[in-house]
Amino acid sequence: MDLMADYRIPFVGLKPGKHEFQMRVDPEFFACFPHSDVDQVHGDVHVELDKLDTTMTLRLDLDAQLTAPCDRCLDDVNIPLTASDRISIRFGDDTMLEDDLWILGTKEYELDVAHAIFQLVHLAKPSRVIHEQETDCDLSMTEWQDDSAEDGEDGNDIDPRWAALKRLDN
Ligand SMILES: [Zn+2]
Repeated sequence: MDLMADYRIPFVGLKPGKHEFQMRVDPEFFACFPHSDVDQVHGDVHVELDKLDTTMTLRLDLDAQLTAPCDRCLDDVNIPLTASDRISIRFGDDTMLEDDLWILGTKEYELDVAHAIFQLVHLAKPSRVIHEQETDCDLSMTEWQDDSAEDGEDGNDIDPRWAALKRLDN
């Protein structure tokens, strides 16, 4: 079965007016994108297509949850992902898809919203995935990380190899 078929809207046959669709986001969806940096996302995108005679507007509302390892303790953390997007659609000679404006050429008969949903999820993803409360972190892991930070990342201690190079300079 063509999984991506669920993310295409055959707009040609639709009557003017508002049409609503519910589209899934789940690991199966992200598996269709080889370069995704998330996959453990579960939820829905509510899609509304407002069809007028000469233009259309597409609205996407994401309501999902991301599960990813916490940056602090590496234990899984669940982060709610919500975001919205609005795309204006016009008709022209050639198809040209930009982020918020799609020009559809004369041969087009359906809207492929999979890529827009993919982008929306990445837009909603926070730059840091972390337990909101430090007390929610897996403490055995944070203690281990604190130790390793003292050994390696503490800027006051000069790496012995650099110290040796410095001596060569003098
Ligand atoms: Zn944590």
